[in-house]
Amino acid sequence: VLLALPDVPLPAEPALTRAKVALAARLGDSKVDTSREGCERFMNDESEATGRLPAAVVHAASAEDVRACLAIAHDLGVPVTPRAAGTGRSGGAVPVAGGVVLATSALADVKELNRDDLLAVVGPGVVTGDLHAACEAEGLFYPPDPNSWKSCMIGGNVAENAGGPRAFKYGVTREYVLGVEACLMGGEVLRPGRRTVKGVTGYDVTALLVGSEGTLAVFTEVTLRLVRKPPAVFTLLALFDDAAAAARCVSALVRDGHVPRCLELMDRETLVALRASGAPVDPRAGALLLCEVDGHPAAAEEAFERAGEALSSAPGVLEVQVAQDAASRDRLWAARRALSGATRKLAKYKLSEDVVVPRSRLEELLVATRALGDRHGVRNLTYGHAGDGNMHVNFLWDTPEERPAVARAIEDLMRATVALGGTLSGEHGVGVAKAPYLALEQSSGLIRLQRDLKAVFDPRGLLNPGKIFPAPPHRAC
Ligand SMILES: Cc1cc2nc3c(=O)[nH]c(=O)nc-3n(C[C@H](O)[C@H](O)[C@H](O)COP(=O)(O)OP(=O)(O)OC[C@H]3O[C@@H](n4cnc5c(N)ncnc54)[C@H](O)[C@@H]3O)c2cc1C
Repeated sequence: VLLALPDVPLPAEPALTRAKVALAARLGDSKVDTSREGCERFMNDESEATGRLPAAVVHAASAEDVRACLAIAHDLGVPVTPRAAGTGRSGGAVPVAGGVVLATSALADVKELNRDDLLAVVGPGVVTGDLHAACEAEGLFYPPDPNSWKSCMIGGNVAENAGGPRAFKYGVTREYVLGVEACLMGGEVLRPGRRTVKGVTGYDVTALLVGSEGTLAVFTEVTLRLVRKPPAVFTLLALFDDAAAAARCVSALVRDGHVPRCLELMDRETLVALRASGAPVDPRAGALLLCEVDGHPAAAEEAFERAGEALSSAPGVLEVQVAQDAASRDRLWAARRALSGATRKLAKYKLSEDVVVPRSRLEELLVATRALGDRHGVRNLTYGHAGDGNMHVNFLWDTPEERPAVARAIEDLMRATVALGGTLSGEHGVGVAKAPYLALEQSSGLIRLQRDLKAVFDPRGLLNPGKIFPAPPHRAC
């Protein structure tokens, strides 16, 4: 077991049997999969956590299906785990209590793309990359770009408050969610938010639901803010002696007022992995920095020239390569895109953390990461969204005997991150993976307040139990 399952109350067998019958009667057999193979496919995500076999997977085809599922499950005391594409890295979509998995991937309509109001209204099952393409065909732009954009979905992005390389300039998903249609456990439908740019009526319930990891409500529609598509993009790739020099360069760029849309760093061990997978990475490089600027042509060109000068004169830089057209840009991005696959090949097991520190502490984080790897004898490599101080520290190992040392190294990483003024997760969420560490960052009072909020939305603790913090017992079990 790579990630231990939380100790959550399990639904009673008779309740599950009644739920399967009621769901099939209400939604039709074709939308309620109770086959072993069908259910097994929904026990994992991309986090290394494995859930309990659900009794059924509901493939919702409409908001009404979602509502009916949440009403039936609530009445019968059956836990529900919402799911989009299952690319999550923290176990958010893993059904740790079994019960019902509620798949929203078929709610995949782009219902509106509005050039006047600069917004999109979409279903939670729209693939993020499809939304990018639809927007860009209209001269519009949806900036959040998790690296899983080819398969992840807007519902999962909103639930995790996803980030991505472009967050340095444009911010994360929350900055783009104007409103949602959300269904509570029990079936009540709420529409917090708005279609306007401004709006301050009442509490910001929309912002609370963004990043709630499927524990408060299930999204059936999302209204997203768009911007105009930036007409010009320039990309630079800087080769450095080592990661510390690259990290110092990131801090200097931020301090000197550069606002690239992406600033991605890869350390020495990451480059070793890339070379091993056949990527043509310059053998001299001990670290890479990928920097991309965009905007109106004149402004972007000026930003590109300034960034080029800053990178070329940075201490420890070996060479700066530039790309001004789409094909050469793709070539520079190839290494970054190949990372996930390349690092997975290095060892039998891999856990990927996504800690964040203030940008000025990036170099200290990299030093601390290397030191804790040496201290515990655990292989690790680090890459990520350096401009945001958000680094993916990947721990690698091959045998179960090494797992305790990995656990100690991860805990040390969490402690070091908090000591540097950082936070445990920049984009993957707490889920199952980081729940054991939450108390390192947040006080018991703050955790209690969040548990109380969860109980207001979901008094019986049936919606995605066992995530973020251990779920309170639900009376039906
Ligand atoms: C190769 C790779 C690269 C990645 N890069 C990034 C990155 O750059 N930035 C980043 O932020 N993440 C990244 N991720 C992580 C992951 O892709 C994101 O967390 C993404 O937002 C998850 O979307 P999903 O559709 O797969 O959601 P899922 O994994 O299906 O679900 C994620 C969470 O959302 C909840 N949920 C799903 N649908 C709904 C709904 N309709 N209503 C309410 N809750 C719902 C689930 O219960 C779960 O808690 C990466 C993952 C991989 C595998």
